[in-house]
Amino acid sequence: MEVDPGRVLDLLARLHELTATEAGAQRVAWTPVWARAREWLRSELDALPVTASVDEAGNLWAALPGRSPRSVVVGSHLDSVPDGGWLDGCLGVLAGVEVLRAVAARSAPPALGVTLVDWADEEGARFGRSLFGSSAAAGLLELDSARGLVDRDGVALVDALAEYGVDLVRAGQAAARLRDVAAYVELHIEQGRVLEAAGLAVGVVDGAYGIERHRVNFEGRAAHAGSTPMALRRDALAAGARLALAARDSALARGGVATVGDLRVVPGIATAIPGEATLVLDQRHGDAAALAAMLADARGAAETIGSDEGVAVNWSAIQSVAPVAFDERLVQAAGECVRAVAGETMRVPSGALHDAVMVARAGVPAVMVFVQSLGGISHNRLEDSRPEHLELGVAAVDRLVRRLAAGSDPRS
Ligand SMILES: [Zn+2]
Repeated sequence: MEVDPGRVLDLLARLHELTATEAGAQRVAWTPVWARAREWLRSELDALPVTASVDEAGNLWAALPGRSPRSVVVGSHLDSVPDGGWLDGCLGVLAGVEVLRAVAARSAPPALGVTLVDWADEEGARFGRSLFGSSAAAGLLELDSARGLVDRDGVALVDALAEYGVDLVRAGQAAARLRDVAAYVELHIEQGRVLEAAGLAVGVVDGAYGIERHRVNFEGRAAHAGSTPMALRRDALAAGARLALAARDSALARGGVATVGDLRVVPGIATAIPGEATLVLDQRHGDAAALAAMLADARGAAETIGSDEGVAVNWSAIQSVAPVAFDERLVQAAGECVRAVAGETMRVPSGALHDAVMVARAGVPAVMVFVQSLGGISHNRLEDSRPEHLELGVAAVDRLVRRLAAGSDPRS
């Protein structure tokens, strides 16, 4: 029985109809629309010979048994940002439904079981903390910081979870679900422009960027914009602007990315030289040494700039995430499957975090397959991909899951 990728497009359209408004997808986790999406998914799964259950962190699993207790897991997330697109997350879940259907329709059960997962709250749209369900399953959920989270209306995460039957204290017990997993496969849209620029439909993700995010404060001296000669100024913003450009140069030279997306200036009026400027520098790279070098470049540049401009510089760390490399044998297997259905392909790193990164951190061999995004647009109702590219992605993932479930356990 062959997989029918066209059915995934039908499922995506039906989910969109059920859970989107004119402004886009509204499946924010721990809200009634998300629950409706889940209910619909369960009704689709009812037609298949699978065992469906929800774990302690609210992740939905649907298992098709194999001859061994070990299994290959395929999945992603149904939840969306507010006014989101029709593909982000749900593509991987609904591709998983079709893969399950095709496996179940074959006469003999596979060597390894095949299991679908719909991770709970990947986006973190309501409480600001992403990857809830997958980090709980990976044993990486920090209970203390999760306990303090509240939404815009002052509702605590703990209470919102309880409404959906999830006890935050027990969420970590979801880790049991990853114990017998031989491999994890996630199909997702790229949400960037690398594949489009290369003219490729489907890419294989070989890992995810590490992140260094720091707040950098520059302290100079506020003074009158008219009566202070240029040579006598200690302009905090001029210093901050030079750091932003230095970080960009370093990212270009070292093959990473760097962004200053947040900048505050004091006193922030047209007639005063800025006495203080605070910016947030976000640097990312797939290689830990190169990422460390980018941070060292920025720190060195800030020191030089500070003394040039007569401005004091203070750094405080916000977040450091180590780069993750996906399992090399799985990446190779995925590459072979993509080439078999789509022809040419390439390896791409993921600049964004995904559930697959948490699964890989838990020590489970994981890999992702990206489908080209039109214009790189995502988290927006205009998010789109060509139907033929989506179908190639589904076919490639089906091929990979089938091959892994036939017994080429990447751990053995
Ligand atoms: Zn996503």
